[in-house]
Amino acid sequence: MAKKRDYYEVLGVNRDASDEDIKKAYRKLAMKFHPDRNPDNPKAEEQFKEAKEAYEILSDPQKRPAYDQYGHAGVDPQAGMGAGGAGMGGFADAFSDIFGDIFGGGGQRGGGGRANVYRGADLRYNLEVSLEDAARGTETRIRIPTMAECETCDGSGAKKGSEPKTCPTCGGHGQVRMQQGFFSIQQTCPKCHGTGRYIADPCGTCHGAGRVKQHKTLSVKIPAGIDEGDRIRLTGEGEHGVNGGPPGDLYVQIHLKAHAVFQRDHDDLHCEMPVSFSTAALGGEIEIPTLDGVAKLKVPAETQTGKVFRLRGKGIKGVRSSSHGDLLCHVVLETPVSLTERQKELLKEFEEISQGNAQRHSPRAQSWLDKVRDFFGS
Ligand SMILES: [Zn+2]
Ligand SMILES: [Zn+2]
Repeated sequence: MAKKRDYYEVLGVNRDASDEDIKKAYRKLAMKFHPDRNPDNPKAEEQFKEAKEAYEILSDPQKRPAYDQYGHAGVDPQAGMGAGGAGMGGFADAFSDIFGDIFGGGGQRGGGGRANVYRGADLRYNLEVSLEDAARGTETRIRIPTMAECETCDGSGAKKGSEPKTCPTCGGHGQVRMQQGFFSIQQTCPKCHGTGRYIADPCGTCHGAGRVKQHKTLSVKIPAGIDEGDRIRLTGEGEHGVNGGPPGDLYVQIHLKAHAVFQRDHDDLHCEMPVSFSTAALGGEIEIPTLDGVAKLKVPAETQTGKVFRLRGKGIKGVRSSSHGDLLCHVVLETPVSLTERQKELLKEFEEISQGNAQRHSPRAQSWLDKVRDFFGS
């Protein structure tokens, strides 16, 4: 390349030109010399590249002073001092990040220049679901806080009649370079927090944020079989992106409400089944609850406490399961309470006629007694 022209000369601006003037001058040149408008014109392409390079240096709050002081030597990427490299990006690149607002028709970007584009944050919503709803699936509506464009300022963040300016600290880049010895560190601009814009006169409604808090109602489909800790992702329902970035996602985190009768263990359900001691002894039929209604269960004679009856297929079909789990009923023998005199009489009589025959009627108690006797060595 021939001897480099002075960057201010390239852009046709004075040495004390404002950032805005530099940007305007560059836009004008870029429109004029853009390769799309000058096909097969290598000279225009050369001029386009030259203007782009000049703009990249003069719009950079760190490089411009270096250039003012040392000229090209102060910023020449080949000289190793322009860390970060004002290299020659492709044209598409230059256009998407600097001229998106002119050629891309990106609407009002408020002179944001090359501001950083961020994806919105993901959000989490804790949703309590009843066991029945989790088992059968349902659809529910949730109300979540969201940031919506401020209507007062149409999202610009600036007071009516004013406009956001390019941030003077970072020249609209959203990033600043800090020189530390030989190293140059890139940081988010402290003045504009990476947006590249500076609002002198903020909108009273949103205080310059351009967005206001609102609520939106979303419909959430709860698939049958969903379990504690499962997450449902609602794509794009998270926070809005920054500077036109894509929105984040909303994760609906499922929590199962405690159930009065059932405890869930993956696809199985457990329940306690109190049985009177006469029913347990004589056998009988008792009604037990299932998710599909009441079922009858035959309790065989001589049923002991702690016995578990398994009702196959009366559990839950998990989201990823191929079949239903089981319902496990845990027998709890209930000692009768609030006995009438007559009942007490009968029980006493029962006890009397059972005595001397413990081996036969209460083998467990008997074997326990035997063990205790062995233990004490008597
Ligand atoms: Zn506003
Ligand atoms: Zn800034």
